This record gives sequence, structure tokens and C-alpha cells, in this order.
Amino acid sequence: MNKHDSERVAGLLRERGYMQAGSPEDAQIIIFNTCTVREHAEERFFGNLNNLRARKKAEPELIIAVGGCVAQKERELIFKKAPHTDIVFGTHNMPNLGHMIESVEQGRQAICEITDAIEVMPTTLPGMREEKHHAWVPIIIGCNNFCTYCIVPHTRGRELSRPVEDILAEVERLVADGVVEITLLGQNVNSYGRDIYKKSKFARLLLELEKIKGLRRIRFTTSHPKDLTDDIIGAIAGSNKICEHIHLPVQAGSNAILKTMNRKYTKEDYLKTVEKIYAAIPGVSLTTDIMVGFPGEAEEDFLHTLDVVEKARYDSAFTFIFSPREGTLAAKMDNQIPAPVKADRFDRLVKLQNRISLEKNMELVGRDIEVFVEAVSKKNRDMLTGRTRTNKVVNFPGPADLIHKEAIINITEAHTWFLKGKLKEVLSLN
Ligand code: SAH
Ligand code: SF4
Repeated sequence: MNKHDSERVAGLLRERGYMQAGSPEDAQIIIFNTCTVREHAEERFFGNLNNLRARKKAEPELIIAVGGCVAQKERELIFKKAPHTDIVFGTHNMPNLGHMIESVEQGRQAICEITDAIEVMPTTLPGMREEKHHAWVPIIIGCNNFCTYCIVPHTRGRELSRPVEDILAEVERLVADGVVEITLLGQNVNSYGRDIYKKSKFARLLLELEKIKGLRRIRFTTSHPKDLTDDIIGAIAGSNKICEHIHLPVQAGSNAILKTMNRKYTKEDYLKTVEKIYAAIPGVSLTTDIMVGFPGEAEEDFLHTLDVVEKARYDSAFTFIFSPREGTLAAKMDNQIPAPVKADRFDRLVKLQNRISLEKNMELVGRDIEVFVEAVSKKNRDMLTGRTRTNKVVNFPGPADLIHKEAIINITEAHTWFLKGKLKEVLSLN
């Protein structure tokens, strides 16, 4: 979502005549798009902001703006800690950023604009895509779930879906502009439509998008396990365009912890959904988010998390150490877990998941797989890099004119995070 928002900020400013600088040193305006999901992200942001103090002194005309969730949550703290900041804008105030910058340029004082409710969907703003072939498409913003550890509902507000027609029209426009792959975004895409149509229309939306000519790959993130219904699994299973990849954050394996987290499913419910997915969608990849060290997590609870990881056999996982976020219920819980215990569990979890990721990738060696070629590899200029429908990175030697084409790659090597292969056949896009 942050990547999407950054693209909108860039698009908005480009439309007003600004150009992207080659590096932060060359920039006359620096905009931070911040994340506050974990303390570490927030600390890094404050560190980076502080690093600009001397430069602002030397270059008073430099404009420093801060948006995103830290801005939304910390309001005054940013000006207090970093008085050299010119603009603080909330998660719903992006549309007005151009005006704010112009006011500062005209010599007015620092500006802070933060509203609690959304007025303009950021998707109606001009965008500037980082990649020609791919676009992020938010379908629902905000979150109503209030998992007890999570700051997102506090910074992003309540769920608000976009009408189906708006989404289809946007995707048609994107495809006309060369996009072949989209990623639908939402904190919980499965509840798409509930606020405006009374019930979820996510499966319907997927089927409508499937009909758009020229669109090749439809991805989405994130699915809340409590809402991943059979019709969504069915839509993926029966589709040529909806990619066989489901990101299904489990967070924890223990029923007691899941309950305190307010996730609204049990370990058994979750594993049943996983079983259904594997049975219905051949070759599907399954990824997840997992957290260790939630307040009250005993060794036995943690063993349930490891057990889910063994049973679900994720292709990969984003793993996190619980980080108390002020304003959430979990931050106030008194049975916080000591840092060394959290660190030990994190290491054990990562080790297990890495083993499984490698094992799953090894199963693909020898197979011929459809890859969308994205770019020349950053690490090795002789190699191209692309992605499978299951969202795995594949590197292979090949000519640069294959970029933005589809190819069949024979997988020759498996690594934990990526695959290597050789070109077998170039497919034509039609
Ligand atoms: N809407 C998504 C998650 C968005 S936040 C979902 O429900 O799955 C992305 C991930 O950050 C979460 O899945 C969770 O694993 C992690 N996370 C959120 N709050 C956290 C916290 N306080 N400490 C550590 N990890 C956290
Ligand atoms: Fe946070 Fe839970 Fe909402 Fe995801 S579903 S954004 S974890 S509150």
C-alpha cells in the first residue's frame, strides 16, 4: 500500500510540473512516506529525518515533507523531534500535498494537515508507476478488524471499498497504457464490497477483471483467513489470469494467542482452509505473515506456530517479532515476552521456514515454468529476472529483448529465495 501511495505522490507532483531527482542529494523537496506497523520502521524514519537537520540549515529552501502512518499517528511529535520539517500530511491528506508544497515555497510557515476520515480516494489521483508492466490497484482501504497488536485501523481508518465499475475502468485504462499485471490491494481484500454492497463481492470482482482483454496476471494481497471463502478459492482455481498464489497471514498457531490477537479463527480452521486451497488449486504457492513473542506466548504456544508452519508448508513467510504499538490493546498487556526469548523463537521459526522454502523450491527443479520477464538482474547484468505466476523470482541468462515478454523457463537450480533456469521457449503475448 505504501508503494502505491508513493507512486501517487510522485504522479501528483509530476502533474504539477515537478521532476523526480536522481538522488536525495539532488532533491529540492524530500518526501517521506512512513510506516509505523513496527517500532523499527518508525525509529529508522526518525533517524533519516534527523540526518537532514544539517542540510536544512545549509539549504533553508529545501522542503521536507512527512506523510504516511507515522504522520497520521504522531502529529506534533514530528515537529517537536524535527523542527526542520516543513510539512506533515496524514494518510488521507495526500491529494492536497501539491498545495501544501506551494504554500511553503511561497514562504509561509510549516504546515500540518491531518484528517481522520477519507474524502478523496488516492486512486483518483494521477499515478507514476515504478514499473511499466505492473500496477497496484487498491480496492478497499482501511481496516475494521482491530487485531489487538495492530496500528493499521488506527492510522488508516475504517474499511472503504471502491465501486466495482471504478476499479474495472481503472484497470481498463492501465491495460491500455501497457499494464499486463495488477496487484489488488487491501488490508483484507476478502471483505471487499461489504461496506457498499452489504456483502463481499471479491470473488465477483475477480471474475469481472478476468474478462479484461490484454490483462495477463491478477494478483491480490492480503487475504484474512477468516474471510477466505470457497467462492474465492473457486475463482482462482477456474481462472487463467488470477495467479496461483495466496498470501494468508496466520500470525500464530496457538488458539489461545489467536484469540487474544482477535484474529477470529482457530489453528484448526486455518489448516482446514489451507487444505482446501492445496486441493483446489494445483501448483498454488502459499505465503504468510507470522509473529513471535506476542504477550503471553508460552513455549507451548510457540510450538503450535512451528507446527502450523510444518503443516501449511509455506513457500515463504514474512516473519516478525512482536513490537508493542502505542494505542493498541496488546501494548498494554502485562505479560510481555522478554527480548531474548523473542529473539530465540524468531531464529527457530526462520530456520524452519527457510528449510521448507528451499524444499518447496527444490520440487520445481527440472520443471518448465511460465515466467514473465521483468528486467535485467541487478546482481548480474548477464542474467534476466522474472516471476512465475506463483510469485517466485527466476533468474536465467537471456537477451534483453525478452523483457516484458513471457517465456517458458526450465528450472535448473533452487535457492531459498529464488530459482535459476534456462530459456526454453518465448511465448507471444496476445
Ligand atoms: N492486513 C494484513 C496485515 C498488515 S500489517 C493482515 O491482516 O494480514 C503486516 C504484518 O505486520 C502483519 O501481518 C503482522 O504480521 C505484522 N505486524 C503488524 N503489527 C505488528 C506488531 N505490532 N508487531 C509485529 N508485527 C506486526
Ligand atoms: Fe492489522 Fe488485523 Fe487489520 Fe491486518 S486485519 S490490518 S493485522 S488489524
